[in-house]
Amino acid sequence: MDEAPVAPEPRPERPAAGKVYLVGAGPGDPELLTLKGLRALQEAEVVVYDRLANPQLLEHAPERAERVYVGKEAQHHAMTQEEINALLVARGLEGRVVCRLKGGDPFVFGRGGEEAEALAAAGVEWEYVPGVTSAIAAAGYAGIPVTYRGLCSTFAIVTGHEDPAKPESSIRWEHLARGVETAVFLMGVERLPDIVAQLTAHGRSPDTPAALVSWGTHPHQRTVQGTLADIAERCREAGCSAPAVTIVGPVAALRERLRWFDSRPLFGKRIVVTRAREQAGDLARRIEQAGGEAILCPTIRIQPVDKPDLSGLERPYDWVVFTSVNGVYCLLAALRGAGKDVRALGQARIAAIGPETARAVEAAGVRVDFVPSEYVAERVAAEFPEPVSGRRVLLPRAREAREVLPSLWRGQGAVVDVVPVYETVTDETGVASLRARIEAGEVDALTFTASSTVRNYARLLHGIDLNGTRIACIGPVTAATATELGLHVDIVAEVYTIPGLLQALKALFSPRQ
Ligand code: SAH
Repeated sequence: MDEAPVAPEPRPERPAAGKVYLVGAGPGDPELLTLKGLRALQEAEVVVYDRLANPQLLEHAPERAERVYVGKEAQHHAMTQEEINALLVARGLEGRVVCRLKGGDPFVFGRGGEEAEALAAAGVEWEYVPGVTSAIAAAGYAGIPVTYRGLCSTFAIVTGHEDPAKPESSIRWEHLARGVETAVFLMGVERLPDIVAQLTAHGRSPDTPAALVSWGTHPHQRTVQGTLADIAERCREAGCSAPAVTIVGPVAALRERLRWFDSRPLFGKRIVVTRAREQAGDLARRIEQAGGEAILCPTIRIQPVDKPDLSGLERPYDWVVFTSVNGVYCLLAALRGAGKDVRALGQARIAAIGPETARAVEAAGVRVDFVPSEYVAERVAAEFPEPVSGRRVLLPRAREAREVLPSLWRGQGAVVDVVPVYETVTDETGVASLRARIEAGEVDALTFTASSTVRNYARLLHGIDLNGTRIACIGPVTAATATELGLHVDIVAEVYTIPGLLQALKALFSPRQ
């Protein structure tokens, strides 16, 4: 009897070829990553990262990617270099895509060369993705260009790790002192006095400008300026610590003219944004652009309503009126959840309250027919492009929204379906842990954009010492609530908008700007 042809058993596949990307994570600022580095991270199945690679970058890696921290602090290594090499080789041979994320550039004192050698020797495919090195970027963020026409035409990147006193030092101090205009020392902050001694002993003038930049490109970057004669002492007094680069040469004095990063109005200020995460972006970005560090700490979270009632869509609406960005996202998500899309809105015309809402609608590929000049129910009604009498209107919005607009329109003879598509739920875990930072004096300001949030915060912070944390409010209503609840309001925005609030923060922290 003939047997029916049987499909061959799938053979266990040999692992596809793995690949290890040696990626420069840049000096700290998470935006200083190359596009190629970003792609390697996004495609990684394994991420192996150092202490100096900003951990925020890991957010770009797929959630399911394995994350391995291999440490590398001066005295304390989570893994030895040999173990790291072995790990990279092993994962590569398993056929995995590995992103080896290294601070700065992988080939500048990062032992990237050794990792590449180990991979090459084991026959694992690898690729080098350059990074922004701290040797150049930390200096530049301090307002020090490492070369400058007329002042400097050679510059050297030097390890400060070596014991300069050891006779077999591989550093040719006599050449470094006299033949190189800018010398940038990495590592070994504690060896600064020896470095200075070697340079001056070999003929570098004690008057040579010098600067040390620690945590370059980070929100808490610090710079100490001086000359070879006093830089070590000044750093000791200032308590500078690693990671830091030391720049020696006439360019170090250019900081006086070219300082930019740490002279921005909110530089070094840690400012809490209390809005829901979904709405915090704009304020957070503006704080960061002004040099501050935005700490997102909401007490509420926007949650889509599970299966909102969209049965009204069975008959055509004349208008769909969106009152918020969340309303747009959550309605679209609800439609998708029901196996539909915007076409379910048929020929309905679209109104969007506020420019952000309009942008969210347009981003979904849908044209907006009407945007009122202001969001006050009366204005919306007065400016509406046609009489609403007899019209069917869909209002997808928050569960707890006010009733003004629907009742106004119903009074004018419209059929208004108010469909809650999202709600705000409390989530106070963040503030609970923020308390400790406030008490430790690690928070410079709290910003409030709504009375409801002020109430949540006032309850959660009750009885603690604010320890110098200032309070900024978006407008008089929010400020009055705060004052009523016993909070001392330091500043109220003059214009009751997010840009207005930012202006107030600048006035608070940099009154002269
Ligand atoms: N591959 C890295 C350097 C690794 S060696 C690069 O290209 O930047 C580690 C040293 O780099 C530290 O000891 C410190 O000297 C320097 N460094 C790294 N990040 C730094 C930062 N954000 N600010 C100042 N120095 C930094």
